[in-house]
Amino acid sequence: MAAGKNPCDSALAAIVSSSDYDGELASCADSVRRKVYSDEVYLRGLIEISSYCRNNCFYCGLRAGNAKALRYRLSKDEILTACKEGCELGFRTFVLQGGEDPYFSDSFICDVVSSIKRLYPDCAVTLSIGEREYSSYKALFDAGADRYLLRHETADDAHYRKLHPESMSLQNRKECLFALKEIGYQVGSGFMVGSPYQTVENIVSDIRFLQELSPDMIGIGPFIPHRNTPFGSFSCGSADLTIRLISILRLLFPYALIPATTSLATIAEENRKKALISGANVIMPNLTPLKVRKKYEIYNRKLSSSLESAQAVESIKAMLADIGYRAVSSRGDVKR
Ligand code: SAM
Ligand code: SF4
Repeated sequence: MAAGKNPCDSALAAIVSSSDYDGELASCADSVRRKVYSDEVYLRGLIEISSYCRNNCFYCGLRAGNAKALRYRLSKDEILTACKEGCELGFRTFVLQGGEDPYFSDSFICDVVSSIKRLYPDCAVTLSIGEREYSSYKALFDAGADRYLLRHETADDAHYRKLHPESMSLQNRKECLFALKEIGYQVGSGFMVGSPYQTVENIVSDIRFLQELSPDMIGIGPFIPHRNTPFGSFSCGSADLTIRLISILRLLFPYALIPATTSLATIAEENRKKALISGANVIMPNLTPLKVRKKYEIYNRKLSSSLESAQAVESIKAMLADIGYRAVSSRGDVKR
């Protein structure tokens, strides 16, 4: 539904128009998250499997047109070694994320997923490898993939056109999301906050689209420019507005798995805690092999060390305890 058609849209727009942190809103969101998830925070080990991408999203440092991007892809052995390390550190969900790398055929990914599930049967596998055919999503699900993350990025057609080249379409993105749901994945979607040309009405449309999709996971993070993209000179999105939106999303989707994202912590470390006390209940520390980790540069100065690193799991647990939460070593499935 377009923004403005629902009588509640203007009320929602008024809440979204302020980008100040709202402590009262945050504590309402926290009490809702505690009713559903108690004090539990779920940890996901993020493995960035490829920095190659065939697409050219105007905002992303991995875009094919960025000739200066450092490219790598992980082998099956490297991915399994990362999972082994993650499992020993206590992670029970692995998120395999990457650009749309044509090298990663269905048979390659199916083989990787089924190997992870055979070696670590109590772990969940989340994929985040972009738009694929229905048959591909089905094959990956049948191989054992549990969840899929695919942000819709923006639910407004005109805004979508400003962020992507002609070869990409919002319609296809949405069809992929509904296909993933139909197949049986736990599905995650979301959007960047403060992406170039984004309006308050766009954000209202994003929330309305999420209500239509009813995803299990919702990931939002501030836009951060990458110097070698067409949007290199735009400003960062607001961290406080992102956190405000996390609270709104928690109130609208009490059951959702909502991460405190890396881009929030990249803007300022304190944002991670602020997001957690405002409704977020997931963190995704980086398990990518150290020798390539810096090469997965979606935006400038993307954080991948200190509390963003899976190897810092004990410090992460201490940070969570310090603000009244408990890191849980389980798959952390959605409770709905
Ligand atoms: N290629 C897959 C896809 O697009 O769904 C997964 C990898 S992509 C790098 C993961 C997410 O990074 C995107 O959905 C997008 O929202 C986010 N992202 C890309 N460029 C960004 C930027 N400059 N600032 C903040 N987030 C960005
Ligand atoms: Fe590729 Fe995803 Fe980056 Fe778009 S956002 S260029 S699809 S990695």
